[in-house]
Amino acid sequence: MTILMVTKSFLLLLILPLASANNLASDGGAQAPLRTKAPSPPPPEKWAGYFTPWTHRPYCPPETPYCVFTNAAYPSLDNGVSILANPDEASSSLTALAQLFLDDTTKSTKTSGQTQEKQPYKITPLPGKGLGLVATRRIPQGEVLTVDYAALVADSAFPSKMKREQGRVLLRKAIERLPRVKEVMELARSGKDATGDVGEVDVEDVVKTNSFTLRIGGESYMALFPTIARINHACNPSAFTRFDEKTLSNTVIAFREIKKGEEITISYSEFGLTRAERQHILQAKWGFTCTCSLCTASQDEITASDARRLKIKALGPQVVQQVQSAQFRLAIELNREMVDLIAAEKLIPHMGEHYEVMARLHMGAGNKKEAKKYAKLAIADLEKFASGWGKETEETLAELKELVKRI
Ligand SMILES: [Zn+2]
Repeated sequence: MTILMVTKSFLLLLILPLASANNLASDGGAQAPLRTKAPSPPPPEKWAGYFTPWTHRPYCPPETPYCVFTNAAYPSLDNGVSILANPDEASSSLTALAQLFLDDTTKSTKTSGQTQEKQPYKITPLPGKGLGLVATRRIPQGEVLTVDYAALVADSAFPSKMKREQGRVLLRKAIERLPRVKEVMELARSGKDATGDVGEVDVEDVVKTNSFTLRIGGESYMALFPTIARINHACNPSAFTRFDEKTLSNTVIAFREIKKGEEITISYSEFGLTRAERQHILQAKWGFTCTCSLCTASQDEITASDARRLKIKALGPQVVQQVQSAQFRLAIELNREMVDLIAAEKLIPHMGEHYEVMARLHMGAGNKKEAKKYAKLAIADLEKFASGWGKETEETLAELKELVKRI
């Protein structure tokens, strides 16, 4: 999996203020810096006797710049996480993670196993797909389905910086230290040798097939989430994920209402691709042909969907361009077209954000009445996903509500 998380609209990076068209400066959207309280990890030669906050001696083979750092008790004794990183290059990420584990060990409650019964899905065999997640009851839009923690986090660049066999040794060491080792090694593989029992499995294939690409402390990592890795792909998915780098957790949220017995799906491919482009990527990276309802729709529907997705992708930069030239009326027209297309493609979690952009654009153009209308639409939509979006969305909601009250 590459980037399958729904990220905040890049249009919001413009940070058009809701308060006044003349006040374009805003500190909204600035990311909180990572905590840096803990000391940097010492160099590998000083590792002996220095394990905290790691539960195992960091494994730093002499022939590579990489080490495996493991905390087998985070966030519970059922999970555990291993980090494969170059301590010299990733010291800020490692420091933040070290602090996370130190903080975690001071907590008295370990939630091991407590959430299992409440989960509204079961992992079950599905025809032609191996295992997958199926809803065991109706799941309303916006409900958090599960919070999964990374079992493995690895520097994205490491496969290119060492011999393949060395990489495999490091990956195997990283995974075999985890309580979830069996769960990880039984995940799907897409490589040529995708057979054999757990002891023989190509660990590199497992990691490649099941990892997300994401950023921690500004650095690029591959991360493997064992439960989320069981969720199959659809081009019109029923769920999406949100990653929190401060806890290494990934939250799965219902994209729309999911019926009892329906499969829970997420999208592995990036947005804005045609059916043919999606099929090519899915085949090349994961070795399967997508048979989701969008890919198997009638030719007319596929053609219409392709055209909408391409148009949505093209309109984004055009809106930005108009805003940058303070052409708010044009920006509003283009953005309205984009919002209609997004609604037609049923890309629901995007709607609240685009309504928010519309509210900001109308404030920019001085159309207070329209700004209020879109702020109300944004509130209604964002509230459904507030629990999944986190603090940033709660702040946006408060800002939008303040605007509605004021106008
Ligand atoms: Zn598809």
